[in-house]
Amino acid sequence: MSLALEAVTLTYPDGDGRLTALDEVSLTVPAGRLTAVVGPSGSGKSSLLAVAATLVTPDRGRVVVAGTDTAGLDRAGRAALRRDTIGIVFQQPNLLPSLTALEQLQVMAHLAGRPPASVRDRAMGLLDAVGLADRAGRRPHQLSGGQRQRVNIARALMNEPAVLLVDEPTSALDHERGAAVVALLTELTRTRGTATVLVTHDHAHLAGADETVTVHDGRLTRPATV
Ligand code: ADP
Ligand code: MG
Repeated sequence: MSLALEAVTLTYPDGDGRLTALDEVSLTVPAGRLTAVVGPSGSGKSSLLAVAATLVTPDRGRVVVAGTDTAGLDRAGRAALRRDTIGIVFQQPNLLPSLTALEQLQVMAHLAGRPPASVRDRAMGLLDAVGLADRAGRRPHQLSGGQRQRVNIARALMNEPAVLLVDEPTSALDHERGAAVVALLTELTRTRGTATVLVTHDHAHLAGADETVTVHDGRLTRPATV
């Protein structure tokens, strides 16, 4: 079991009170499985990913990443866990403008202190896996939106994460390219063995998911009402 949220409650300050963004949310994602999360805007989907990514600490509940209960970690411990076991893909590919596709991936491995000799091969292998082996030398402005999102996904996998968290990766893409990105995520989940959580607003993307859950007002229901 690679990712587990157990009765997670998260509130944000809201005027004089608190807004409950996640209300007793429990979710388990095994290695090699993809869970899709759907729900209206403002329902708590990104908050769920932020908690799973250890970027935000919940008020109550447990977050277990690759067997590690994150409650026992300090800030540095969480950062190390994130770097070594979690891949994150945000809505907008936040690539560094001056780096080539290959360098975007290499930077991740260097930050994690990986030996440089193996890094280039792994980066090229991942670019190949996302269909961009022939674009390795291009910078972000020389790539299409769909290609940038593929680089983003390959970069998230660079440090062999146990957990892959993906927030609405297709919102900037047309339907066809969006569907191709989701198919790629499904395939990579199988081949790389990640526990993947995919937040999506497009119900057409749910076909490849092992499980689909719906979030409404911070509460999680399953199965999704498609
Ligand atoms: P979704 O991703 O489903 O659109 P979010 O998780 O972003 O939903 O937001 C859930 C609720 O929490 C919303 O009401 C949103 O306004 C609120 N919220 C999100 N982030 C913050 C924050 N940093 N501070 C205060 N409220 C927030
Ligand atoms: Mg969101």
